[in-house]
Amino acid sequence: MINGVIFNTKELLDYMNLMQVNSELQYEIVEGIKKNTMALRLTSHVLQLIDWKNILIDPIRKQFLPLLSEYSLPHPSLEVDSLSEISSQVSPGIIHRYPKKILFLLTSFCPMYCSFCTRSYLVGPSTETLSKINLNKSLADKINALINYLKSNSDINDVVISGGDIASVETGIIDRLLANLATIKSLKTVRLATRTLLFDPKIFLPNTSFFDIITQYSDKFKQRNIELSIQCHFNHPIEISEESQQAALSLWKSGVIIRNQTVLLDGINSTIDLQKKLIKKLVASGIQPYYVYQMDMVANAEHFRTNLATCINISKNLTGVFPGFQLPRFIVDLPGGGGKRSVYEYEFYDQKYGIYGFKSPLISGGKIYYYCDPLRYLEPNIQKEWTEKKTISNLYSLN
Ligand SMILES: *Cc1c(COP(=O)(O)O)cnc(C)c1O
Ligand code: SF4
Repeated sequence: MINGVIFNTKELLDYMNLMQVNSELQYEIVEGIKKNTMALRLTSHVLQLIDWKNILIDPIRKQFLPLLSEYSLPHPSLEVDSLSEISSQVSPGIIHRYPKKILFLLTSFCPMYCSFCTRSYLVGPSTETLSKINLNKSLADKINALINYLKSNSDINDVVISGGDIASVETGIIDRLLANLATIKSLKTVRLATRTLLFDPKIFLPNTSFFDIITQYSDKFKQRNIELSIQCHFNHPIEISEESQQAALSLWKSGVIIRNQTVLLDGINSTIDLQKKLIKKLVASGIQPYYVYQMDMVANAEHFRTNLATCINISKNLTGVFPGFQLPRFIVDLPGGGGKRSVYEYEFYDQKYGIYGFKSPLISGGKIYYYCDPLRYLEPNIQKEWTEKKTISNLYSLN
């Protein structure tokens, strides 16, 4: 362990022995790690949030340490890069999918790695199961490329800086990036994406270098009529510790807007009640609930995915509970690069095969993008048809 961070299986085993986790569960976790496409890394803050006496049901453990027995039957249309981000890059790390918005992948590292990560093709060190792509560019080169791209594309007014987690980048680099962005006249909004309000919230408390840089640039940007905000990622109310709350409230009190993105995860946060509690706690922490994502069709994380009906049902039951501006939008990011759509916007639903068809007029006119429910929600004979994929491929042009 370095600074309380667990980096490998041996350190985790030592820790689990200390926490008196039974050997059967230890075995399940170690074998689960071998199948994981995301690397093992656990901060001391999160180690303390996990209820090791009840790890079988612990919602934080489930997100980072899947048990061997939790992995489920994969859908044949799952992809490592489900959103086709690799082919949407106009330069390494720059994804230009929507006319006026840019997604910038500054770093490929995070303080911890979520097993359901949409960007598993890139994020974190390679694992036994998956070799990651390498953007082959230094941070400085990527930043230069971004600034040049923005200068020559003055339609773009919004940049999401993500990766990876911006909190795994030195503040000196963030300083340089933000200083450069401040010179782009066409920019109206800049968003910094991080899950570190969960992983290690103390780095965002007042008088830390991250807090200082974010609040300073938030003020500087405001003078230029640019909004600097944070996009955080909390999935379950227990992830919002007192320290997380304190850090978020301090940023909020300094005038920084924080918006949350949640991924709907089966058996972790997939109930109306938990989503209600999460929204309440976010709002009490000065954080706006922004999106709840239907989980993407990413390879090797199928047990995290609910069917789309679960997401729609939660959304329907939350409408009217909160003031409208506190209600997150429930969305699905379409496989194949169709972009984000409201979960209600599908053109058709084939219930038998669990297939939804969406259009994305802004991105590609009349083209149909398919989102498919996990096989375990379908009848056994239909599951079999899917795994053999004969009739279905003829019905729809699926990969
Ligand atoms: C999500 C995303 C954005 C930002 O989308 P918003 O709906 O404005 O939050 C921008 N570019 C890409 C490629 C994205 O996936
Ligand atoms: S913090 Fe975000 S980018 Fe990092 S592993 Fe989790 S989901 Fe992926």
